[in-house]
Amino acid sequence: MTQSLEQLRFDNSFARLPTEFYSRLNPTPFAGAPYLVSFNPNVSSLLDIHPQEIYRPEFLAYLSGTQAWPGSEPLAMLYAGHQFGHYVPQLGDGRAMLLGEIRNRRDEKWDVQLKGCGITPYSRQGDGRAVLRSTIREYLCSEAMHALGIPTTRALCIIGADDEVYRETIETGAMLLRVAPSHVRFGSFEIFYYRDQPEQLRVLADYVITQHYPELQDHPDKYIELLRSVVRRTAKLMAQWQSVGFAHGVMNTDNMSILGLTLDYGPFGFMEAYEPGFICNHSDHEGRYAFDQQPGIGFWNLTALAQALTPLISVEAAKACLLEYETHYPAFYYDLMRQKLGLQEITAEAVDVIDGWLRLLQQDARDYTLTFRALSGFDVDENNKNTSLRDMFISRLDFDRWAKSYATLLLKQNVATPARRQQMNSVNPKYILRNYLAQIAIDKATKQKDFSEIDKLLQILQKPFDEQPEFESYAAEAPDWAKTISVSCSS
Ligand code: AMP
Ligand code: MG
Repeated sequence: MTQSLEQLRFDNSFARLPTEFYSRLNPTPFAGAPYLVSFNPNVSSLLDIHPQEIYRPEFLAYLSGTQAWPGSEPLAMLYAGHQFGHYVPQLGDGRAMLLGEIRNRRDEKWDVQLKGCGITPYSRQGDGRAVLRSTIREYLCSEAMHALGIPTTRALCIIGADDEVYRETIETGAMLLRVAPSHVRFGSFEIFYYRDQPEQLRVLADYVITQHYPELQDHPDKYIELLRSVVRRTAKLMAQWQSVGFAHGVMNTDNMSILGLTLDYGPFGFMEAYEPGFICNHSDHEGRYAFDQQPGIGFWNLTALAQALTPLISVEAAKACLLEYETHYPAFYYDLMRQKLGLQEITAEAVDVIDGWLRLLQQDARDYTLTFRALSGFDVDENNKNTSLRDMFISRLDFDRWAKSYATLLLKQNVATPARRQQMNSVNPKYILRNYLAQIAIDKATKQKDFSEIDKLLQILQKPFDEQPEFESYAAEAPDWAKTISVSCSS
C-alpha cells in the first residue's frame, strides 16, 4: 500500500534526544527553481511513497526544502571524527539535514536526510551545497552497492537547480534525498568522549541500542555487546568491499556507520585493473585509504570507537572485542572468495588457489570484475585449455599452472559444473559503476541537462548479476579517454 507524502508516518526519535546532539534548523532552498533529476522507484516503495507523487509540485517543494514536509523536524546532527588519522574536535552535518524518520508499513524506520541543503552551524568554511556531479555518483553507487548485497545508505532522488556552486570550477548545485536506518557515525560517539561528557555518551549508546540493536537491550553487558556487534558488522563490510573491488576513498571515522553501512560516498572507485595498492582519491597522496589498506583502516577506526566507549566499558573488554576482528575479517573475506571461485569449503589449499588467482590478476593488471565473471566458464576437463579465459592473460604458462591447481581443487571438492557456473554468476557481478560510466552520465546531465543516462545506469546497476545482453557495452573496460579521469575529495 503506497501513500501520499502527507500521509507518511514520521517518527522522529533522534529529534527527541537532548539538544546537545544536533541543531534544529530548516534547509535553505535553491535560488533557482528546483527540478527532478532522477527518481528511484525502489526506494519510494521502501518508504511506501506512491510513485505518482513525484508529479505533484509538493514533491519538489518538500524535497528541496522550499516548503516544510508535514511531519518532518529538520536537524543537523553533531559529530566529530578522525580525518586522515588526526582528531578533528567538531564536524557535524555541514551540508545535510535529517528531515525526520519515516516508519513504513512493515514497521521499518528510515532516516530521510537531505544532502546539499544549505549551511548549518557545522558548515565551517563550506557553502552547505553539493554539486550535481557528486550527487549523481553517490546516487548511482549506493544503489549499485545495495544490488551487490552490500549494506549501504540509499537514495530516493536527486533534485537539481541552476544555482552555481563553486568548486575547482563553477558547477551546478543539487540535493540528494538519502535514506538509511540511521546516520549515526563512529564520530558521533567520539565527540562526547573527547569532550569528557560520559552522560551524553551513555544516552547515545542507549539510543543506538534501543533503536538499532534491540536484541541487546536487556543484556547485562549491553555496551560491550554493542561494540562487539559493530566490530563484526564492520569486519563483514570490509570483506564485502574487498570482494567486489570497492575503494571508499575517505575512511575517516566520521564516515563510518555505527550500523556497518557504506556511508558518505565521495571519491570512491571500483577497481578495474587489479592493483592492491589502488588509490581512488587523488587527494590521498600517502595512500592511507588505498584499496589494500581498507581492512586495516576498518580496524583502526574501530579502535577509535572502542576508545570513545571506554567511559562505558573496561579497556580489557574493549580490547577483547577488537581482537575478534582478526578472526572475523579473514573468515568473512575468504568465505566470499570461496563463493567467487565456486568452491565448497575453505582449506589451506583453497587459500593458495585464491591467492594464486589474485596474483595472476595483479601480474597482468587484468580487470577485476571481468576476469572473475569469466572464471565461471572454467572447465575442469584437462583436454579443454580454457582458451578464452587463458587469452585474458599475458603469462599463459602461469595461467596454465594455476588452472591445473584450480581444476584439481574443484574435482577434489566435488563441485558440479553447471551448478558452479550459476552460483558463481550470482556472486561475481557483470556490471559495476565504472568511473567512466558515471562520467558519461555526469557529462550529459551537466552539459546538456539530459538525465536519461542516470536512469539507464540505475536500471542496469540494479541487476548487476544478470546478463542483460541489451546493455553488454556497459560491462566493458574503460576506453582510453577515461583512463585519466581524476576523482578528488571535492564534492
Ligand atoms: P566529507 O568528507 O564529505 O564526509 O565531509 C567532512 C565534513 O565536512 C562534514 O562535516 C561535512 O558536513 C563537511 N562538508 C563537506 N562539504 C561541505 C560543504 N560544501 N559545506 C559545508 N560542509 C561541508
Ligand atoms: Mg562525511
